[in-house]
Amino acid sequence: MNPALRRPLVAGNWKLHKTVGESTELVAALAKALPAEPTAEVVVAPVFTALSAVRDAAAGSAIAHAAQDVYWEASGAFTGEVSAPLLSDLGCSYVIVGHSERRQLFGESDEHVARKAAAVLGAGMVPIVCCGESLEQREAGETEAHVLSQVGAALAGLSEGDLAKVVIAYEPIWAIGTGRTASPDDAQQVHGAIRGLLSERFGSALADGTRILYGGSVKPGNAAELMAQPDIDGALVGGASLESDSFAAIVAAAQA
Ligand code: PEP
Repeated sequence: MNPALRRPLVAGNWKLHKTVGESTELVAALAKALPAEPTAEVVVAPVFTALSAVRDAAAGSAIAHAAQDVYWEASGAFTGEVSAPLLSDLGCSYVIVGHSERRQLFGESDEHVARKAAAVLGAGMVPIVCCGESLEQREAGETEAHVLSQVGAALAGLSEGDLAKVVIAYEPIWAIGTGRTASPDDAQQVHGAIRGLLSERFGSALADGTRILYGGSVKPGNAAELMAQPDIDGALVGGASLESDSFAAIVAAAQA
């Protein structure tokens, strides 16, 4: 991590867990467990139904809130969808887009992810764009080609000003929720390749300023070593974000 250029970001993806009451309890416990002004930016992404309660419970703390997904149209006959302006209206600062669970279970394509990222930026929020390879792709030596093609597709068509805001999360699919983590060296290699692509396409100033998070079984015990890598600027955390002490310990590891 290069704190001179990039403030670390630690985001908790609560996935499909927790009622409104449980979500407010968790965010209140987290606010107590964190220092008043953490070095890292801290973000939690509850289910849609808990967003406004989490916003209220986090008021006055350093915790921002994010949505886990979004639809790219602003309004209309799109039953069941939630749009970027509605998330902005709830005070969301970030929206996760292209999580591998969305891609694998709900058929999201690179084109969908690009449209979602553009919609999030258009509504004044920041997309956390996820990318990552399957175990088969890693074993076939296709990791970098796959990840770089996902990143390139997600960012295609964005203006320079919008590109400068985007956060990328590298999450090897085989490491998500499995307890298996990429080694710091392996993760660094992919993060370095992503930054290299950004530099080649958009220039070194933009590449040096872009935060690239690592996700995939990040825990208090492995967070510091991962985030000490020069191109790892924080973490996207699933399981370990569902408990205030473990998430706070990961936030603390980002400031070391
Ligand atoms: C995730 O869902 O983005 C994630 C990284 O999950 P976990 O930390 O549980 O592997």
